[in-house]
Amino acid sequence: MKRIILIFLSIWITSCGNNQTDTGDFNSEAVSQTVYQWKMVTTWPKNLPGLGTAPERMAKKIEIMSNGRLKIKVYGAGEIVPAMEVFETVSQGTVQLGHGASYYWKGKVPIAQFFTAVPFGLTAQEMNGWLLHGGGLELWRELYERYNLFPIPSGNTGVQMAGWFNKEITSLKDIEGLKMRIPGLGGEVFSRAGGAAVRMPASEIYSSMQTGVIDATEWVGPYNDLALGLHQTAKFYYYPGWQEAGPALELIVNKEAWNNLPPDLQAILETASLAANTDMLAEYTARNNFALRELVDKHGVELKRLPDDVLETFREISYEMTAGIPDVEDELSQRIYQSYDEYRKGVINYHEISERAFINVRGDGK
Ligand code: CA
Repeated sequence: MKRIILIFLSIWITSCGNNQTDTGDFNSEAVSQTVYQWKMVTTWPKNLPGLGTAPERMAKKIEIMSNGRLKIKVYGAGEIVPAMEVFETVSQGTVQLGHGASYYWKGKVPIAQFFTAVPFGLTAQEMNGWLLHGGGLELWRELYERYNLFPIPSGNTGVQMAGWFNKEITSLKDIEGLKMRIPGLGGEVFSRAGGAAVRMPASEIYSSMQTGVIDATEWVGPYNDLALGLHQTAKFYYYPGWQEAGPALELIVNKEAWNNLPPDLQAILETASLAANTDMLAEYTARNNFALRELVDKHGVELKRLPDDVLETFREISYEMTAGIPDVEDELSQRIYQSYDEYRKGVINYHEISERAFINVRGDGK
């Protein structure tokens, strides 16, 4: 390494000639050859299709784009720390990077849930609009600054499924007392509607369903749920994914690590994460339909829509609950809620006459 730097420097000095003695430039050129070897902890099972493979692909691309100057080793949930300790671990700087979802940290930062998903909230397309061009990401960074973190959007699954149930849901009565794995604000809504929400990472869902620790679970959608084998644990598969219409995933960077990175590597990291953000949505969009057909045709899964009274109750609770969250927090939480709420109203209006109007007249493709 030293020899490479020396060769590089001698070429640089020669090419600059005698009149170039600015040590500022000299130092920045030398520093920029530093090789950064970083670790990324994730909340996902190692190499789970989509959620787990996206960070791995991102790390490989970053190494190529940086010409080997930023090397990232990706760890699945539980390899260094459990899924639910990713935030704390990166915040403290034990590792430099984390990949997960902000709603997992609601115990510490309730308003952070708005940066993943609000029930009956924004779709993936709308969420990207808010974050990247609607002021959302600036607010997210202001919030995470308090925790010594720098967030970058880093994936989205699109509209999820309502989940797997071990019994048929015919009305709101059937939700009463039901134990369901459902995180974030969706879980709050579910509990307030009479159910019992449980938070657990992907790795525990299958066995918890098998042993009856929980009666129902949501995870993502056909492509991912098939990979986890959830069709072996329950017969009824419900839609629509009211709880997560377009959940944004996050890459979190320890703030000191981020600040110490040269600007070109910062740009590479951010761009790679935004590429993963788009690529993941494309992957789910392309694969969900085929996976759903396999679940129904090959595995005999019963596909059902949640009854209207269940969805209406969930929606009412959700709107009321999300409006109340900033009241119990601080001024920044209120600004985040206001930004989200204003954007949501506007985008819903516009999508009435664009996305929805088009989908309604498109026909069924036959
Ligand atoms: Ca989910």
